[in-house]
Amino acid sequence: MFGLSASAAPHPRPVGSLGRRLVLATLAFCLVFTLITVAVRTWSAWHANLAAMTSELTLIDQVFQRTLAKALWEVDRESLQTQLDSVAQAAPVGRVELRILRAGRPAEILEKQHSLRSTSALAPTLQHMLIYAPYPGASETVGELTLEGDEQLLWQRLQREVASIVVTQVIQSLLLAGLIMWMFNRSVTVHVQHIARHLNQLSPANLRQTLRLARPMAHHDELSLLEVGVNGLQDKLSTYLERQRQDENDLAVHRDHLAELVEARTAELSTANRRLEELSRSDPLTGLANRRHFDELKDIEFRRALRLGHPLSVLMCDLDCFKLYNDTYGHALGDQCLQAVANTLNRVFARAGELAARIGGEEFAVLLPGADALAARTAAEWLRQELAVLAIEHSSSPVSAYVTLSIGVAQFEPETMDHFDLLMLRADQALYRAKHLGRDRIAV
Ligand code: GH3
Ligand code: MG
Ligand code: MG
Repeated sequence: MFGLSASAAPHPRPVGSLGRRLVLATLAFCLVFTLITVAVRTWSAWHANLAAMTSELTLIDQVFQRTLAKALWEVDRESLQTQLDSVAQAAPVGRVELRILRAGRPAEILEKQHSLRSTSALAPTLQHMLIYAPYPGASETVGELTLEGDEQLLWQRLQREVASIVVTQVIQSLLLAGLIMWMFNRSVTVHVQHIARHLNQLSPANLRQTLRLARPMAHHDELSLLEVGVNGLQDKLSTYLERQRQDENDLAVHRDHLAELVEARTAELSTANRRLEELSRSDPLTGLANRRHFDELKDIEFRRALRLGHPLSVLMCDLDCFKLYNDTYGHALGDQCLQAVANTLNRVFARAGELAARIGGEEFAVLLPGADALAARTAAEWLRQELAVLAIEHSSSPVSAYVTLSIGVAQFEPETMDHFDLLMLRADQALYRAKHLGRDRIAV
């Protein structure tokens, strides 16, 4: 169905009419019925006509037999002729024959018949002896009268009757067919067309529109069943579609909710990943970059300095006598001290590119891209001063009453250093010198 293109779609078949088919069938039936009826009624009319003619002949015979017998007895030829003419004139008589019987003489036959009419095999024939009684107690057979019916008259009568039968039957058939057509149209066709129109204009939007046939309520038949069936089907279909729509809505809501959940989870996951990444690259105690982060960045900055010929310096910082600090104030205060130093580092080295990292217990390294030894030293000095401002008490320190730092400074020299670890080593050596020279100082 769906594969058919518009041009290949078959032409809609013309709609026939049930009523017309019914009428044609009725007319065909009426024709057959009329033929049979006409045959039967013609046959019975023929027999009725025969009987009627027989009784007419009997009547004529009764009228004329006495006078004829008398005329024969009296040998009154003139009267005989007159009477025979009268008999022959009577309508139902086709032929009349009078056989005159006289003792010792051959029978004489007088005959009369309608001109042009031959003797009939179908018309009834009446034949009987004429007996004359000249006086009471005596009787003599004087002749024999034969009356033959008029076959042509029979046919004429039959023809008239057949014509009447045929006309009656045809009118009856036509009226019957018309009545059936009218009834069928009124009680079936109109409603079937209404149902077809109703079904044609149905769509998911107007499924709740019920089918109402314009018929009296009392009618309960096949059409009512069809009406109830169509409405029931529409109801079920509508409910089904509504449920489907509801399910689709629920599904969409569920899907949206699921998408939101996935989005939220993804966001949480990426936040967690970022946090994890940060954690993996930061020191948990101080929040500074850890050794790993420092190592990643140092290589990048080293290559950049090498490529661009920019200066690059490193500070190695170590808290002085921190073991003693722990011993004096306890490990927890030691931690707090480390955090305070880390905050100071963060504050002092906050410019873009600068990185302060905790690379050991109480050791910190600072990466200073773009800074030469002098600038690095100045920055280190600033750091020392900032720490001095904090004035974190360190009573057991042989160097100062407050917590102090020793700082080794080294500047990258492209001519002598082919990798960063050499720069770190130089900074370490400078730090060692600072320690050796009495701590709380900077060595370059
Ligand atoms: P120096 O001046 O020569 O550096 O002496 P120092 O005592 O600082 O050096 P040393 O290497 O002997 O001791 C370092 C101390 O730092 C030892 C340890 O107790 C302390 N330390 C290292 N990591 C932590 C930490 O995470 N928290 C605390 N509270 N102390 C730490
Ligand atoms: Mg140390
Ligand atoms: Mg130390």
